[in-house]
Amino acid sequence: MKTQRYDLIIVGGGMVGATLACALGDSPLRIALVEHQSPSTRWPVPDFDIRVSAITRATENVFRAVGAWPGMEQRRVCPYQHMRVWDAGGNGEIHFDCAGIGEANLGHIIENSVIQAALWERAGQFGNIARICPATPAQLAWDNRQASLMLSQGITLASSLLVGADGGRSWVREQGGIDCLGWDYQQTAVVATIKTPAGHQDTAWQRFLPDGPLAFLPLPGAYCSIVWSTRPAHAETLLALSDADFLHTLQQNIGDVLGELEGVGPRGAFQLRLSHTREYVRPRLALIGDAAHSIHPLAGQGVNLGVADAASL
Ligand SMILES: Cc1cc2nc3c(=O)[nH]c(=O)nc-3n(C[C@H](O)[C@H](O)[C@H](O)COP(=O)(O)OP(=O)(O)OC[C@H]3O[C@@H](n4cnc5c(N)ncnc54)[C@H](O)[C@@H]3O)c2cc1C
Repeated sequence: MKTQRYDLIIVGGGMVGATLACALGDSPLRIALVEHQSPSTRWPVPDFDIRVSAITRATENVFRAVGAWPGMEQRRVCPYQHMRVWDAGGNGEIHFDCAGIGEANLGHIIENSVIQAALWERAGQFGNIARICPATPAQLAWDNRQASLMLSQGITLASSLLVGADGGRSWVREQGGIDCLGWDYQQTAVVATIKTPAGHQDTAWQRFLPDGPLAFLPLPGAYCSIVWSTRPAHAETLLALSDADFLHTLQQNIGDVLGELEGVGPRGAFQLRLSHTREYVRPRLALIGDAAHSIHPLAGQGVNLGVADAASL
């Protein structure tokens, strides 16, 4: 089978890999964006994605610069004007207000599927980007001239640089034999969409409980996305509760700042891990996004750091 030649192969078309591809759209470089699963660009969809990200102004500016922001805004994004963080075990609290910095908002909460769909769609508008999907990388080799990636479909791609943007369990990092430092936070994040009929006051809320932080992130309308980081055994208990008991437990732990909580959608859980690769770049190889580093979601910085990787690369 003939080898397909590119200037750059990006393995992983998630939020970070697709940002890098779009940033190089319309450049003289020929780019292959290789992704496992076809992201759905279907819209509208009735339900909120249970995975959302707090997107900073810096990341918004990158999304604007690469032309993907309109695709997100046309779907749905939720600007927030305040952030309130407080401690369940004491009087500590902090309030950020966008008025204090003369901005219209502090950032946006956006569903991950919305971000990925807009970036994927945008990547498809550039003549120099080939979206190769669904694709399963099978073998990877480097010599001093190029990286060669064989897909299980029997196609071989070759390029002078290959970027691993394939997430926390990076296959590319593993193929490169690159060590990754890290440890389990011994916490699991339970996520779900919650109906908050009294409204969320355009505020991102986070309460520090003895076992970990509980965040309520505003979504369009009277909804919030929660991220409850807690001990793994407690997370299992939370996942096993009936909807009514889960809502009751949630209400007890967040208090009355959001009024009475009503509906809860499906719940998901993510084991939390800190990881940091020992090397970001090698000849003909670079790692970006979670493939290079992953951190606790309490500060909402993971994908923002990954987009900064893409922008600086
Ligand atoms: C509960 C939770 C809440 C979070 N909240 C925030 C937040 O508010 N703000 C924030 O900035 N960050 C947040 N994060 C972190 C954020 O989700 C990650 O940093 C981000 O998803 C990393 O993006 P990525 O593109 O590097 O990796 P991923 O999102 O993991 O994407 C990797 C992509 O590569 C593809 N892929 C994987 N392996 C292969 C392969 N071998 N071949 C081809 N394709 C492959 C996958 O299908 C996927 O599309 C949160 C994380 C969690 C767990």
